[in-house]
Parts: sequence; structure tokens; C-alpha cells
Amino acid sequence: MTNTEQDRWSRVKGRLRSSVGEDVYTSWFARMDLESVQEESVRLSVPTRFLKSWIQAHYAERVLTCWQAEMPEVHRIDLTVRTAMRCAAPAKEALGGSPLDPRLTFGSFVIGRSNTLAHAAARQVAEGRRGDSVMFNPLYIHAGVGLGKTHLLQAVTWAGNSGSERKVLYLTAEKFMYGFVAALKTQTALAFKEALRGIDVLVIDDLQFLQGKSTQAEFCHTLNALIDAGRQVVIAADRPPSDLESLDDRVRSRLAGGLVVEMGSLGEELRLGILKSRVAAARAHHASFDVPAPVLDYLARTITHNGRDLEGAINRLLAHSKLNAQPVTLEMAEREVRDLIRPQEPKRIKIEDIQRVVARQYNVSRSDLLSSRRTANVVRPRQVAMYLAKTLTLRSLPEIGRRFGGRDHTTVLHAVRKIEALVAKDAALCEEVESLKRQLQE
Ligand code: ADP
Ligand code: MG
Repeated sequence: MTNTEQDRWSRVKGRLRSSVGEDVYTSWFARMDLESVQEESVRLSVPTRFLKSWIQAHYAERVLTCWQAEMPEVHRIDLTVRTAMRCAAPAKEALGGSPLDPRLTFGSFVIGRSNTLAHAAARQVAEGRRGDSVMFNPLYIHAGVGLGKTHLLQAVTWAGNSGSERKVLYLTAEKFMYGFVAALKTQTALAFKEALRGIDVLVIDDLQFLQGKSTQAEFCHTLNALIDAGRQVVIAADRPPSDLESLDDRVRSRLAGGLVVEMGSLGEELRLGILKSRVAAARAHHASFDVPAPVLDYLARTITHNGRDLEGAINRLLAHSKLNAQPVTLEMAEREVRDLIRPQEPKRIKIEDIQRVVARQYNVSRSDLLSSRRTANVVRPRQVAMYLAKTLTLRSLPEIGRRFGGRDHTTVLHAVRKIEALVAKDAALCEEVESLKRQLQE
């Protein structure tokens, strides 16, 4: 790919990011790559079938528009699924696990403040033996994109399957869904269930993608059956159980009933550690590759977003130094990773924070906001809080209703419209709302 194509692709991604917002972008587009540009058509790739169908169903137009803004002659976007070079997981019977990346082991996992607890819990799970009593079940790890969830889950799987008599099965939620749907089609659903229930540790990645009533019901049965039988379940998702909107309450509470651990953003020291571990891994195959300490420091300081970009940075330096047979310098690094350096991500605002700040501002209690009281001094703050929840978070109306004492989504919609209308004509309220937003975004 030429440099102009790369630059253009970076700009298209920039447009896409500002068009759909940071959260949506990282969920769906962070792993989209440019394969080729040919006259009127652009070929893009994503790592999974699921991402492909989701993007096609929901964002096809948007992606095309962003391309056309850079290249008006583009008329078609082809989206393909990349096949990664990966080795298969240790053999499994009826049910095949998702592919495992041989690099994602405990050995290459760098421990830092933000992941100490998650790492310790994962290790504990991996070291368990058949028949041991299970300490926390399920182990539920959540974190934003690129903060090491998959790495940790695959490490558990590798470690668990090496040498022990236990069977550890790693599945993405997507694989779980497709497996189940496929099994239903071929009427082997029973065999699928049996196979699932016959394993010692079930590891499920990216649970936020689990969709559809029947798969969820099946997931719920499987979870209950495994946990009741004393088998270990490990789950990763990009949000806590309480925010998995599409799951029903019973599953949510079951998920929250084990150990829930969050992995925070990667601190600078941890980022440096990850970079070093990546360089060391690359040097195993390319002995002449070296990244001087000042370059590592520079990368760790500036690429703050996530582990995927750190990995990407090292890959680029490696490619560049190989292709041009040049040593890595600070100047080259600055040029090569320019587009990986992002402005600080805006703070993620939680509904609880909104309720707290609004309650404080209007001198009511948080439980007043959630209550069914209808006196004016509570109704208005409640509506303001719902309005802020709709505008400052990505939560859906039904979810917001649920978080405000189990209200209907039409009530939330009414509140949002009401405040929108009032803000447009009431300068004092408008200023109040703006001030609340500032407090929340600080
Ligand atoms: P997630 O599944 O949370 O989106 P990944 O596990 O895929 O994130 O991590 C993204 C990249 O960052 C991978 O290359 C992974 O190896 C690396 N990474 C993240 N955290 C760590 C860590 N603590 N130690 C080593 N590598 C890490
Ligand atoms: Mg992942």
C-alpha cells in the first residue's frame, strides 16, 4: 500500500471516528483494516464474520460516505473477513473452540497497577485442578478495548490446557452464538449442549456481543449448569454486568455474583513494559531489530490509548526498518506512528454519576430521583437527569428507564423531549443544564 493510501485511510478513519463517536468507533471499527483501493472500490477487512455483518447492517452507508469525502470516485466498499495466521487450540471434541493466538500467554502478559487483581484471579483459575473447589464463579473481567482482556483469557486457556487433565474451552460470544445457531440448524443442539457441559473451564470472550433471545436463554442454561456443577466460568466484556443491557436480569445477577474485576487504562509504566515485551518477541525472529530506549519512552508517553496501538506501533517500526534496512530512530518513530497518537479520550460518564450530581444540585436525594414521587421539586430534577443520561451516555431509553427505578422507556422519552423544549426557551434552565454537563465532564 502506498503512503498516500495510508494517509487517506487515516483521514477516513478520523472522519468515521468523529461521525460515530469514540465508543462506537472503538467497538466496531478499531480493528478494521484497509486492504486495497481500486478505482471505484475499496476493500476493507475485519477480523470476524460477526463484525462484518454488523458493520454491513448498520454502518455501510456511513463508511462509504466517509470514503467519498476523501475520494469522491469511490462507489463501493467491499468488506471481507481477514484470516489471521493462528494455530488451533488444543484439540476438542464436538465443539471447536475459537482460535488461540500463541503469543497471548501469561509469560507475555505484563502486570501493572491496573490489572494486578485481574491477573491474580486469572492465574488462580488457570492453576486450579479438576475437583478443586471453585473460589469465584464466574470470574468476570471487564475493560475497554485493547486493555488486555483477550490476552488474559487466552493465557488462562493456554495455561489450563497445558499438561493438566482439565479441559478449558475458549469461545468468543460470537462463536457461542454461531455454534448454537449452526447446531440448531443441523439439529445437534443436544450434542452441542452436552459438549459444552462436559468441560471444566468455559472461557467466553466479548460477552457484550451475545445477542438474540434463544442464544441468551441457552447461555443462561449453560452458565447455570456449569456453575451448579462446580465448573469454572471466565468471562470478559467491555462493560460491567449491570450495563449488559440486552441480557435479562437473572443472567445479569448471576454474572455479578462471582468476582467482577475491572482492568483500568494502561499506565505509562505498563505501556513501556508492553512495548518492551513486544520488541523482545519480535527480536526472536528478527535478531537485528532494535528499538532504542528513548524511542520506547517516546512511544509509551504518547500512545496512551490501548495495547492494540502499542502493538501496531512496534509492527510498523519493524516493517519500516526491515523494508528500508534502516535502524529505528526517534525521528522515524515520530513519523511512523503519527496517526496512532490520539487526543485524550473523553471521560466515560456513568448514569450513577449523573444521578449523584443532579441530586446534589437540586438538593434532593438520589433515591428521590429513583422513587415514584411526583412532586414538582423531584419531577424536574428527575427529568433533567434522564435528559443528561440520554445525551451524555450511549445508554438506550429502556436501559435509562430501568436505571431510574424501573420506568418505562416512553417516560424517559417524554422527559428528554420536555427538557429539550424547555432548554430551547428557558435561558436559566439552559445554563443550569450546561453547568451540570461541565461538572460531569470534568
Ligand atoms: P482487549 O481484548 O481488551 O480488547 P487485547 O487483549 O486484545 O485487548 O490486547 C490488545 C493488545 O495489547 C494485544 O496485543 C495484547 O497482547 C496487548 N496487551 C494488553 N494488555 C497487555 C498486558 N498487560 N501485557 C502485555 N500485552 C498486553
Ligand atoms: Mg478482546
